[in-house]
Amino acid sequence: MKALVLGGGVIGVATAYYLAREGCEVAVVEQQDGVGREATASNAGILAAGHAFAWASPRAPAQLLRSLLGQETAIRVRLRPDPRLYAWGYRFLRECTAERARRNTLVKLRLCQYSQAVMADLVRREGIAYHAIARGALYVYRDPAELEVGARKMALLSAHGQRQEILDPDAVAKLDPVFEPVKHKIAGAVRDLTDSSGDARLFTEELARVCREKLGVAFHLGTRVQGLRAQGDRITGAVTDRGVLTADAYVLALGVQSPLVARTVGVRLPIYPAKGYSSTFPLRPGGLAPTVPGVDEQWLVAWSRMGDRLRLTSTAEFCGYDWRWTPRDFANVLRLARDLFPDAADYTRGEYRACLRPMTPGGPPILGAGRHRNLFFNAGHGHMGWTMACGSARIVADLIVGRTPELGLDGLAVRAAAAT
Ligand SMILES: Cc1cc2nc3c(=O)[nH]c(=O)nc-3n(C[C@H](O)[C@H](O)[C@H](O)COP(=O)(O)OP(=O)(O)OC[C@H]3O[C@@H](n4cnc5c(N)ncnc54)[C@H](O)[C@@H]3O)c2cc1C
Repeated sequence: MKALVLGGGVIGVATAYYLAREGCEVAVVEQQDGVGREATASNAGILAAGHAFAWASPRAPAQLLRSLLGQETAIRVRLRPDPRLYAWGYRFLRECTAERARRNTLVKLRLCQYSQAVMADLVRREGIAYHAIARGALYVYRDPAELEVGARKMALLSAHGQRQEILDPDAVAKLDPVFEPVKHKIAGAVRDLTDSSGDARLFTEELARVCREKLGVAFHLGTRVQGLRAQGDRITGAVTDRGVLTADAYVLALGVQSPLVARTVGVRLPIYPAKGYSSTFPLRPGGLAPTVPGVDEQWLVAWSRMGDRLRLTSTAEFCGYDWRWTPRDFANVLRLARDLFPDAADYTRGEYRACLRPMTPGGPPILGAGRHRNLFFNAGHGHMGWTMACGSARIVADLIVGRTPELGLDGLAVRAAAAT
């Protein structure tokens, strides 16, 4: 079978890998000159089943309202004349009940856990190095009352298989000495023991190398997909700026651009961008730097170490397809860096960028086929795509070759059906 994977982010490349291992003849189409250059290149790097909570929760509407009133909030929205924002926002608000938040969280958690297992197997088999750190992740709180709320919230995940512990400031500093000089600033942390971190772009590049050299996958880099062609219930080609490419099966893995291309064959995918800010700093030789990835749950900044660099990310802003940033957008990241890790990195030599998370209203991604029998979606992984990549790719590859995926599709297949 000939398969064409549209998109060379971590999701597309992982899908190409599993399809090629099934014996398919695979090609990947990617607009950039290399793989993993968009959201994949900018994320916080945390493989974080322990952070699988759905953003659409009973607390979210009040946060959005406060954001509209100009206050600093975890999720922000900037109103703009974009009907897609309002249509998506309406569906997001419908997911904000306690019952739906719980269900969406558990669907995401199950996929994350499956993905971590599948990824471990892949990494072992192919010997992929990606600056992995397997020491859990720290969800740090500055306020004791918030720590208590956080620990209660985390109980949902530990009741469903996550191994977690609550650490006081001394225990946090014992685990990661970077906290020793600043432990008076924190109330403690929830540590998820099964979380880990690594460089998603490096992983994607290395996996692409395996795909090319070992499995014969072709990469059409610098090639932009402009649309799809359909006849009846089948896709007949992908139109690119270098001509039409054809295959037996097509995988849509274009991150935030997936709905724009799906629309060309009348399919509406409920995916909207949530902008985040990503910064990377060179570590200072001999400096005290974090050795465990984490998130400051109050200041809402995530960090992880990637080789000799420190990655810090923050913010979720619904403002459309807008990749612009100003130095002010990184004020929060730099405030945290200087507050908790003053000695870790050279903060005058940062690489800064904005990037877009492909969010669905409820949180779980869209996997599987819709109304066209040979068009398969693997998109909408939101804030968790690095964690979910290998599992989602394996599921979609299974569906394409006609095998029942190991992971039950409740909550995921429903999404695919709802997408068309
Ligand atoms: C600030 C931030 C922090 C994050 N932190 C984490 C984290 O800690 N843990 C985690 O699990 N996830 C995290 N994520 C989420 C994760 O990065 C994404 O979910 C994931 O990268 C999505 O992968 P993707 O392959 O779908 O998208 P992308 O990486 O964006 O890949 C899509 C690819 O398609 C290509 N493309 C798009 N349109 C076209 C076209 N028309 N023609 C050809 N090619 C095209 C793009 O160039 C791109 O390479 C974070 C995201 C952000 C923004």
